[in-house]
Amino acid sequence: MFKKFLDAIGNLFKSLFGGGTEPKPTPKPKPTDPNTEIPQDGSEITPDTIIIVADETENVIIKPDEKDIEFDDDLGVDENIPATIPDDNQNTDSGSETDESTTDEEGGSGGPVEGEVPQGRYLWCLDNGHGQYTKGKRSPVFDDGVTQFLEYEFNRDIVRRIMAQLDEHGISYYNVVPEVEVDDFLRERVDRANTKKSDLPKVFISVHSNAASARSSKHWAAASISGIETWYFHNSKKGRKVASIFQKHLIDQTGLKNRHLKSRPESQFFVLRKTRMTAVLTENGFYNNKAEAAKLMTDEMRQKIADAHVVAILEIEKNGI
Ligand SMILES: [Zn+2]
Repeated sequence: MFKKFLDAIGNLFKSLFGGGTEPKPTPKPKPTDPNTEIPQDGSEITPDTIIIVADETENVIIKPDEKDIEFDDDLGVDENIPATIPDDNQNTDSGSETDESTTDEEGGSGGPVEGEVPQGRYLWCLDNGHGQYTKGKRSPVFDDGVTQFLEYEFNRDIVRRIMAQLDEHGISYYNVVPEVEVDDFLRERVDRANTKKSDLPKVFISVHSNAASARSSKHWAAASISGIETWYFHNSKKGRKVASIFQKHLIDQTGLKNRHLKSRPESQFFVLRKTRMTAVLTENGFYNNKAEAAKLMTDEMRQKIADAHVVAILEIEKNGI
């Protein structure tokens, strides 16, 4: 069913890498060895990559008991993760509990607080994407000569705002990387989410901001490249459904340009490929678009972005995946 979306690839390339920048040389095929190529977010997607673009308004029908593909099992890097993964989808209570069959903790630290009546139907694994020591992931310096957009700080601020609201709603979440002074922590993020004990099925949300190709990290990218996109694991209908709900609310709340849903048939982001649960990655605006970065620095826009995530979570909590 994704073939129909392949038609949009050309448009995507245009929107990602067009905008009056210098012409690119003919792209050469790149090796797609997942062990050496571990893209972290949308800013690392190269022009020669096949990307599926999906419309978030197209309804995703998931039949009861329909199997889903929610992760890659190809890398063999997760020896410490229990091997009792059921071969059907992970989004059932029994699937989640089977995965955690060795636990003797009541409720698990990510689920309802001990002694409290369980609320909500999922454990939301909130991932802030990068650490303080991650290279790049920052804007050029603004005109004041000092101010810079730092992606790790933005991602954490959005996650912090989401968590504050989920507390009010009594919805379970797990802050995957509360530490600040870390680098990418890529495998640790995935391992923590996968091994997190929970009586509730888990959903992984990775929060990011995007960067377009630019002359250098000191130069702002083309002003024409802007907006929000949400990524999901290829062939995961549940991932696409969750992504569509996040994307819809992000566009509604922020008014930023709609770049729709995206996925890759190969070498998908590590956090989408290896998390053994429904997983999506939101790219909330372009921090090296000067005008958009200025918006992303404001309290108002950050709150809108966080609110959109929360509204999406509430919708999924209400209706299920
Ligand atoms: Zn990022």
